[in-house]
Amino acid sequence: MKAVVFTEPGKFIVTDRPVPQMGPGDLLLKVDSCGVCGTDIHIFHGEHFVEFPVIPGHEYSGVVVEAGSEVKYITIGDHVAVDPNIVCGVCHFCRRGQIHLCEKLTALGVNMDGGFAEYSLVPGKQAYLLPKSLPLEHAALVEPLACCVHGIDQAEIGVGDDVLVIGAGPIGLIMTQLARLAGARRVIVSEPSETRRELAAELGADIVIDPINQDLRGEVLKATEVGAGVVIECVGKASTAEQAIGLAKRGGMILLFGVTSPGEESRIKPYDVFFRELTIRGSFINPFTHARAVNLLAEGKVNVEPLISHRLRLEDFGKALALAGTPAAAKILIKPGD
Ligand SMILES: [Zn+2]
Ligand SMILES: [Zn+2]
Repeated sequence: MKAVVFTEPGKFIVTDRPVPQMGPGDLLLKVDSCGVCGTDIHIFHGEHFVEFPVIPGHEYSGVVVEAGSEVKYITIGDHVAVDPNIVCGVCHFCRRGQIHLCEKLTALGVNMDGGFAEYSLVPGKQAYLLPKSLPLEHAALVEPLACCVHGIDQAEIGVGDDVLVIGAGPIGLIMTQLARLAGARRVIVSEPSETRRELAAELGADIVIDPINQDLRGEVLKATEVGAGVVIECVGKASTAEQAIGLAKRGGMILLFGVTSPGEESRIKPYDVFFRELTIRGSFINPFTHARAVNLLAEGKVNVEPLISHRLRLEDFGKALALAGTPAAAKILIKPGD
């Protein structure tokens, strides 16, 4: 089978690999679509603990072509989305229900072969059955949507709160929709790219702001009077994290959702956190949120179609890497069957 392989930090090849060997608890998927994520770029540059060589790709959907004898509920021909995060079930954190903080966490597409390949071996318990009415391309976004659902839970938006979303890449555009569903009064989106601002407005943002050519603070204060009740940082930069803290109202919540490079540092004033009684929260992956993400997509409550900017073949992976994170790209899907 054809696959993308990261061979060492900064290097990849598109090559032939044997189709993986099935175990009794496994499913073999013919991968339909696998999304390129910021995390893939961090992995490519060796910024995550990864054992090279590895087939990357952790946001994927496919059709089951083989099912192990021990797999229940899912059979050949079923459409599934993959939860790439595999937990041990017995460590301190797993036994407290905080499975995403598992000390032995491994992930398909990170330290095990993932979805940038024609076929992928997936433990049966990591697969979520999809209704056949849900396009498999949309289902490739179940994983990032599940991460955002966890983030929205962490953000504790109250009905009627004003929410500021910083950054309107694929994640910011999902967060905009989830903030609406969570009952925000006004969803304000800050984004320098005009195309992305237009998309944010289409997908439910009440106010869009260009932070380069407009006075972001002034506009946020005009819309909220006191600052945003909840600020969701979806860029993953130290500077936008600082901006997020600055734009929350007194008593506000700041969700740092975008993934920065591990070494980046932001400056915060502890006095500010005290005097403005701020809550600064993180959100890591997607514990117990995949089923909700599948439901949101299946019911059309979250629209991911406009987020898909490119559909590329495995052979064009280099092009995908070059495009990822640029204003010209939103979600890039790799289509191994094409
Ligand atoms: Zn991802
Ligand atoms: Zn564990």
